[in-house]
Amino acid sequence: MKNIAVLTSGGDSPGMNACIRAIVRSANKKKIQVHGIQYGYDGLINNDFKILSPYDVGNTIHIGGTILKSARSDEFRTNEGRKKAHKNLRSNNIDGLIVLGGDGSLTGAKIFVEEFNFKVIGIPCTIDNDIYGTDYSIGFSTARETVVNAIDKIRDTASSHERIFIVEVMGRESGFLALESGVASGAELILIPENNNSMDEVIKSIKKINDKKKSVIIVYAEGCKFGTLNELSNKIKNNIQNSNVRVSILGHIQRGGIPSPSDRILASILGYESINKITEGYTNKMVGIINQNTMLLDLEDAISKKKNINLSLNKMSNIISRY
Ligand code: ATP
Repeated sequence: MKNIAVLTSGGDSPGMNACIRAIVRSANKKKIQVHGIQYGYDGLINNDFKILSPYDVGNTIHIGGTILKSARSDEFRTNEGRKKAHKNLRSNNIDGLIVLGGDGSLTGAKIFVEEFNFKVIGIPCTIDNDIYGTDYSIGFSTARETVVNAIDKIRDTASSHERIFIVEVMGRESGFLALESGVASGAELILIPENNNSMDEVIKSIKKINDKKKSVIIVYAEGCKFGTLNELSNKIKNNIQNSNVRVSILGHIQRGGIPSPSDRILASILGYESINKITEGYTNKMVGIINQNTMLLDLEDAISKKKNINLSLNKMSNIISRY
């Protein structure tokens, strides 16, 4: 292998730059040139390639976002778009591609490998942490820290004014971020899509907690199935006398920021491993870490198998965050 390309796709996540740095420098050690593709799959289609030297990735390990920019590419969802992408890879003499992104990006990668028999390795990057085959995805640790910091601040007001705060956290399909940040911030109630609470049960719990503690932090994952944020807020107001309810939507502050040490280490290991594996001839695979061991699994499994959430954490939290 002489030339490898790398791109970042889908939502940006803190640690992507640390990963690009590890890829470029590990490849350089093997005398392989790395081509950075700008704007995700759109850049592949538009031939937006630039060579990344080991110096170009200096002083980036601590920077959030992605120096390669990211995008969501509708054109890559079409066979025509992917044909253009393949043609550009060939004309730039690229022998392999490394894709950093969430489950959508990894799905695109798998389809691409199967259509063109190209060498591709995926690296899980998403603050949602919902990708099978790795304990953590790049960006999750930083996002969890951001959410906990925000809730710590909200708690001061909740406690001083004896308010009920509903804090909405990202997670349309999964509650990993809500669950772990809820436990770490001592939230009195954590609501996630994986639980089948009814609205009545939720209101009953909030009433019980509020009667004793007078201030309540509810972490609400945006994909909760039992009701919307507004429905929940109105139900609390209507069912709990004199309740003082506030809603705080954390939004995009959860995506950015200085990557945590854990994300930098994970990103470094996965970037380094991706170069080892692609040069050993592997393709259609994702690199991950389980129980401190690096793993290599089929992209198909990474995108189709469901990663189980540890619901016993929620049960534990219900006991230790209330009295
Ligand atoms: P995040 O977890 O942050 O949302 P993601 O990688 O899941 O990240 P998506 O927007 O789902 O983000 O996907 C990113 C890009 O991957 C899409 O814009 C598209 O270009 C490509 N992609 C996703 N699904 C497919 C598919 N089925 N076929 C081809 N390309 C796809």
